[in-house]
Parts: sequence; C-alpha cells; structure tokens
Amino acid sequence: MSLLRDNGEVAKLSEIPVKAITLLGSTGSIGTQTLDILQQYPDRFRLVGLAAGNNVELMARQIRQFRPEIVAICNEEKLAELKSAIADIDPQPIILAGDAGVIEVARYGDAEAVVTGIVGCAGLLPTIAAIEAGKDIALANKETLIAGGPVVNPLLQKHGVKLLPADSEHSAIFQCLQGVPEGGLRRIILTASGGAFRDWPVERLSEVTVADAITHPNWSMGKKITVDSATLMNKGLEVIEAHYLFGMDYDDIDIVVHPQSIIHSLIELQDTSVLAQLGWPDMRLPLLYAISWPDRVPTDWKPLDLVKAGDLTFREPDRHKYPCMDLAYAAGRAGGSMTAVLNAANEQAVALFLEEKIQFLEIPKVIEMACDRHQANNRQNPSLDDIIEADRWARQAVIEASQKLESVAQMVRV
Ligand code: MG
Repeated sequence: MSLLRDNGEVAKLSEIPVKAITLLGSTGSIGTQTLDILQQYPDRFRLVGLAAGNNVELMARQIRQFRPEIVAICNEEKLAELKSAIADIDPQPIILAGDAGVIEVARYGDAEAVVTGIVGCAGLLPTIAAIEAGKDIALANKETLIAGGPVVNPLLQKHGVKLLPADSEHSAIFQCLQGVPEGGLRRIILTASGGAFRDWPVERLSEVTVADAITHPNWSMGKKITVDSATLMNKGLEVIEAHYLFGMDYDDIDIVVHPQSIIHSLIELQDTSVLAQLGWPDMRLPLLYAISWPDRVPTDWKPLDLVKAGDLTFREPDRHKYPCMDLAYAAGRAGGSMTAVLNAANEQAVALFLEEKIQFLEIPKVIEMACDRHQANNRQNPSLDDIIEADRWARQAVIEASQKLESVAQMVRV
C-alpha cells in the first residue's frame, strides 16, 4: 500500500516511521479524540508525553493504556492522588505537576509534534516551550495565536517549526492551500454553523440559559467553545487565528453561515477559482491531518455521501444578533495586545455566564467594555510579558464591568 503525500511524492506505508506525539490537555474533548486516533493507529503514532488539568481518574486510565514516558497534572493538589492511582505501573513514567510540569512535558524527549488541546490562554506558555524545543505544533488551542500571535509567529520562523491547524475551518483552509503557489490566495471564507441559537429570533436571546448555550447542533465540543459558538465569538476568534496562520488581511477574511457544517471552509484564488474541503462534522479528521501531515492516512471512517448530506445552504451572518463577530474584527484590526485582551475578556465573560453571574446578552457587553478601556494602552509589538499582563488585566476588567452592570440592574429594580 502506498500513500500520496500532498507534496506529490509517493511514500509506502511501511516506509513511514512511527511518529512520536505529545498531548497537552488529554482529558478534554480534543485530547480524548486524539487518543482515539492513536489507539486506532498504533503502527503510525506513539505517545511520548501527556498532560491534563485535574481529572485523575481518566488520566490514570490513559497512562495505563498508552504508557507515556512523562506525564504532568496541572493541579498540584492532585499529584499524590495521581501517583497512587498509577503506582503499580511498571516502568513508572516521570510524574510532574503544576504549570511548570506541563511546560516540561511540552518540551520533553523526541516527540516530533505536540497536540495542544488545553483550553484557553493556559495553553500559550507550554506551546511556546514546545516551539523552542523544535517541535511542530498540532494547534487545537486557538488562544495560542489569538493572544500570542505577535510573539509566536516570529518564534516559529526562528526555530523552523510548523504550525499545523487542528481546528476544522483552518484545517480546511490548510488542506485547500496544499499546492497553491505563494501569492495565489486572494480570500479566505470561513464557514460557521450559526451556533445553538441560529433559528432563535433575536428577542429570545435575553432568555438564554446555560443549558441552552452548552448544546451544539452539529459538533460535539467542550463547554467553553460551545458557548463561543452560540455567541459566534468562536468565529470571530477564528478570523483572528486565520489572520495569524495564513497572513491574510482582515478585509480578505469573510464569514458565511452554513448550517449543515459539511463544507468546513473555502479559499478563493487570484483567478476567482474557489476551493473547499468537505466532510461530515467530525473533529477526528482535522486532528488526524494535523498529526499526519504531509501524509494521508487511510481510514475506515464513514465516507461523505453528498446525497445523504442533502441540501447545503448559506446565508450572511447576522451582525446585529451576534455583536461578538465585529468585536473580534475590531480587535484584530487594532492588533498588538488587543487580541489578547479580547480573548481573555471573552474567557472571563463565558466563565461568568457559566456561573450564572451574567446573562447571555451581557457577554459581548462586558467584552466591549474591556476592549474600550484597553484602547489607550494597546501595545503594538507586545512582548510575552505584555501579553500575559494584558490577559490578567482583561479578566479583572471584565469582572469590574460585570459588577457595574449588576449595580445598574439593581438601580433599575429599586
Ligand atoms: Mg472551528
């Protein structure tokens, strides 16, 4: 059996060596789906390191099954529990804890690629550590580029490291771009499912509960990203991610709502030819391509059937109903540390919404208040320290903004 690589070379399956992979965020949605792939293709992939937040039980099961050389649990208080849960495993992996432990796992050993499935800005430092250790990044953590783009992009160049997108939209664009010559790309068209409330009238959005917002019509994902899909901030963040990944101007990145999630995104070339990548909505496919690139691994997954997929429809995104999209474009155009502020403000706003401390429609309000306050202090060419400080500041700014909204609401009630 042979494989056609995207660079046109033909490689025999048996000639392709086992690829060493490290996985950050192993117990989350991206992490467990990555391990499903590794389990399905033990002759293609080997797990070197694994890190997770605090789910000891699942982590212990994963360590038992995949036998990585090094592991880290981010929550230091759970270290003793993890150690005792895997005490009988022989040989023992190196067991670490805390942020420093996760960073150590990211840069450890002979892993060729690191899958970054950590949610939020917490993924930034371990990703930078992996890049500095010369490892390719299978990027499943948007925040790395959205917050850290101005710092990460020069580092990739310096260390000759590749960023392989594992997000379905960016994977689609990346796949379409294989074979497109330098300068051939004119426009990126990101597709959006439209989120949980695409068929709700805008007036009903004030009644949205947490339970409504964490149910996605097409994709099975973590809570934070599902809320981001409902506000369409997810698409806004993906616009910024596309800007940093593919070097496109914000004027040349468009969004189109495509409720069936069959076309994962498109590119328009200079001659107006449009290329798209299609498939059932299944995160495993972009994940597999991110860790197998430039190879194409044969799978037994359900092939796309266009007749069964049926009608594919498209519509313009409703910018009035979903103000988060324009907040993201504005932050992207402002550049510098503003995208880090947008990202952190959004993370904090979603956390407050999930704790039922703010309403669904207040998510964009508190983000906008934080971004407005940052305008005067926005740093072009921020350092990593500037980005971390902007992130910390934005979270506090959102908490303050939510308290302001709360006191206004109380005044209205009185
Ligand atoms: Mg996506």
